[in-house]
Amino acid sequence: MTRKPIIAGNWKMNNTVADTRDAVRKLVPLVNDSVDVDIVVCPPFTSLAAAVDAAESSNISVGAQNVHWEEKGAYTGEISVKMLIELNVAYAVVGHSERRQYFGETDVNVNRRLHASLQAGLIPIVCVGETLEQRRSGEMEAVITGQIRVCLDKVSADRMCGTVIAYEPVWAIGTGVTATPEQAQEVHSLIRRLLRESYDDTTAETVRIQYGGSVKSSNINDLMSQPDIDGALVGGASLVPDEFGDLIKKAVDN
Ligand code: PEP
Repeated sequence: MTRKPIIAGNWKMNNTVADTRDAVRKLVPLVNDSVDVDIVVCPPFTSLAAAVDAAESSNISVGAQNVHWEEKGAYTGEISVKMLIELNVAYAVVGHSERRQYFGETDVNVNRRLHASLQAGLIPIVCVGETLEQRRSGEMEAVITGQIRVCLDKVSADRMCGTVIAYEPVWAIGTGVTATPEQAQEVHSLIRRLLRESYDDTTAETVRIQYGGSVKSSNINDLMSQPDIDGALVGGASLVPDEFGDLIKKAVDN
């Protein structure tokens, strides 16, 4: 089965409204011929409307970096799916390791965020990944298995097919250290096997699994040549339009 590659840029806490407008306007002409790949930019909440506006009529979609599970209420600092849908945001990243590390997010509330997104028609990008200590102590498989089971709990096969998973080893995020294509492939194939066990062959073969962790235009091609790597979630390299545009082109350049 062929899966359409998906490259998403996670801008984290970077880019004001003006910076966002500028960056998206620069990116649009760089990637307008790249039709065989889904392209997403995820700016901070304050810049979402500007990104949607600047990406209008282009092949770039906009995603949020997080979303809350409740529709409204006393959740200071949180944003609901309804608020994102109103802005024409199409994707939401859930469970990014920085959210887990600095803001106490757990697999259980990642699962809630995932259900809320799917219910509203947002495409979730669910992040999983082990720390260096967990990898070194031989726990990688158990950690990924646990995260996948809890994060995807009670998601139907149909909805699973519309969900994107991002495997992001914590030790490779923002460190300049990229997992080798073989290391990434090993975990991607584990995730696909877990999907096969929990769902069925069709679901496992349909779900797109991105790799994330110091992806650049210079290493995307080798990563994409692995059979279970369907794209990338890109932090630092997505902040520079020329570099991100190049990376997107190379992702589909076999
Ligand atoms: C990320 O933020 O999801 C990420 C992978 O960052 P970087 O590409 O900078 O490692």
